[in-house]
Amino acid sequence: MSKTIDKFNEHVMMTYGRLDIVLDKGEGRTATDEDGKEYIDFGSGIGTNSLGYCNDEWADAVCAQVRSIQHTSNYYYTTVQADFADMLCTATGYQKVFFGNSGAEANECAIKLARKYSFDKYGKEAERNIIITLVNSFHGRTIATLSATGQDVFHNYFFPFVPGFVNVEANNIADLKAKLAENKGKVCAVMFELVQGEGGVCPLTKEFVDAIFEECAKEDILTICDEVQTGIGRTGAVLTSKLFGVKPNITTLAKGLAGGVPIGACLADEKCCDVLTKSTHGSTFGGNPIACAGGKVVIGKVSDPAFIAEINRKAELFRSLLSEIDEVEGVDGLGLMIGVRLKTKKAAEILGECAKNGLLILTAKDKLRFLPPLTITDEEIKKGIAILAKLLA
Ligand SMILES: *Cc1c(COP(=O)(O)O)cnc(C)c1O
Repeated sequence: MSKTIDKFNEHVMMTYGRLDIVLDKGEGRTATDEDGKEYIDFGSGIGTNSLGYCNDEWADAVCAQVRSIQHTSNYYYTTVQADFADMLCTATGYQKVFFGNSGAEANECAIKLARKYSFDKYGKEAERNIIITLVNSFHGRTIATLSATGQDVFHNYFFPFVPGFVNVEANNIADLKAKLAENKGKVCAVMFELVQGEGGVCPLTKEFVDAIFEECAKEDILTICDEVQTGIGRTGAVLTSKLFGVKPNITTLAKGLAGGVPIGACLADEKCCDVLTKSTHGSTFGGNPIACAGGKVVIGKVSDPAFIAEINRKAELFRSLLSEIDEVEGVDGLGLMIGVRLKTKKAAEILGECAKNGLLILTAKDKLRFLPPLTITDEEIKKGIAILAKLLA
């Protein structure tokens, strides 16, 4: 076994199930391990390397920022954070943003914002603090975002969890209405992913999403859309909410937003963008100049309709090639966020086989999951799926 892996196992907490691969380098959509073996990457570090490995424009911007000013506290202003916030709000149609460093932090911000919105407007005594989340959702690993996550497997060991989260079954309008009625006057927000990622690449129905927005509008309940995985081009739109024709009060982003440097963002509309006031929220690294420099390049790309059109065209190709494989029962998801149901084989075993054969993929529940870099080429798609098809034959 590799020395690197020995060191890891001695000194890094064993919180992940890792493959025995040590990745050293990446270029484009190809990663190289310490022995020089190459892998086509259909996972992009769970959707973070949105422009692939070491994209020239992105790397130049990040390196230039490192050499110019790498960090300031948020006691000062930086040009790069101002420019990135401006680009991000313009591209998404939101008024203001709070920057953190991860998806969990973006969601923590959304949770705090929603609770304070109701606290400010209805008073402490109203106890209008419940956030409805969906069964099978995933919102992060902090205590609050784990509590928000609607999967029992995550609600273990770390008791007590944060109270104030009520789960509704995804795509069940009757359940949504029942839980809102049961908690009438106590709900401050409904939070959801439009395509549940970790939950198995499961899209919400348009009818259910419309019902959320209708019900929330009646009672001044905020809508929070967790686009940490679906956002910034992944599904073939700047925001997936645009594909559903809705405008949530709050949208959270992270993963692919800065092309592979840590970032999180909580976007808020006119109605709630001034709720978090001085000293009510903060983050030392939030809005870090290096992350913002990377983010500017990514937003620049996805703001171009031609880039988005290419994502959709390539997603079509990806999906049609997958559907041709006999063992594939169905292809789920949106754009380049793809889940594959298999007829007889086990997704986790296929993932290991793919890696041995030079293809990096992901799983979600019992599906294969693909989140390829948005810059993947037709040739790479064909080559990667040929490897997969052979293993599934
Ligand atoms: C990955 C993910 C998160 C958590 O993001 P981290 O950066 O790991 O904290 C939250 N929500 C969704 C939908 C995600 O896919």
